[in-house]
Amino acid sequence: MKPIFILFSLLILIGCNKKAPNSQDLNSPIASKNSKSQLIDLSHAFSDKTIYWVTAQEFHLDTVFHGETNKGYYYSANNFSTAEHGGTHIDAPIHFSKNGQTVDEIPLENLIGEAIKINVSTKSLNNPDYQISIEDFTNWEKKEQIQIPKGSIVLLQTGFSKYYPNKLKYLGTDKRGEEAVKLLHFPGLSAEAAEWLVKNRKIHAIGIDTPSIDYGQSQYFKSHVILLSQNIPAFENLTNLEQVPEKGFKIIALPMKIKGGSGAPLRIVAVLNN
Ligand SMILES: [Zn+2]
Repeated sequence: MKPIFILFSLLILIGCNKKAPNSQDLNSPIASKNSKSQLIDLSHAFSDKTIYWVTAQEFHLDTVFHGETNKGYYYSANNFSTAEHGGTHIDAPIHFSKNGQTVDEIPLENLIGEAIKINVSTKSLNNPDYQISIEDFTNWEKKEQIQIPKGSIVLLQTGFSKYYPNKLKYLGTDKRGEEAVKLLHFPGLSAEAAEWLVKNRKIHAIGIDTPSIDYGQSQYFKSHVILLSQNIPAFENLTNLEQVPEKGFKIIALPMKIKGGSGAPLRIVAVLNN
């Protein structure tokens, strides 16, 4: 009995070993048992605290059912409603570009890939009207001794997510409506730097930890127009950027696939290889 048992065990082991490489191939290294990847959630949760553009409809969650049913099982379901542009979300190219991609048309290559981070928080935390400059990009390149890699997802850290969800600190105003637009103060990307990026560095997407890629005092949303008209989507209201390095990590950014949408709520994660 014993030798047969050993042979049987060996067969099981061989079977397992054969399966292991397949399952590793199918799943990304993130799921691999031996991987040391670390996942950082760069998304704010959606709730009645979620920050929206001052003219946009806020997030609502209505309970459909919550509790024990008369058949004896537990059941929970809600309805939600939201503007496309609020909380952690994506701006699809069509948001500011007539012929741009809608959110369902954005290629996955623009949403998943190698990323870099540029931290300007020492400047922007002292100046809510700070606009990220060409020099911020060239300084990053000098420090890291590489060009912003082709096809990168570029994340801009202003440090403003630490104020979220305090509207007064994060947006510059807790008022809402058309009148509140001119009261907005938060940092963003300058039009010159957006122009420099699209002309000189072929990036796949851009993200920022403020409500908008253009700074709060912007009137013409030029950085939106420049980036989105090149089909470069923008991720807004990001968080936890202080937890990601300057380079050598990946981003997975998967928005809700709204057909024809100009934007959508976004779940975005950084994958760090330690
Ligand atoms: Zn937006």
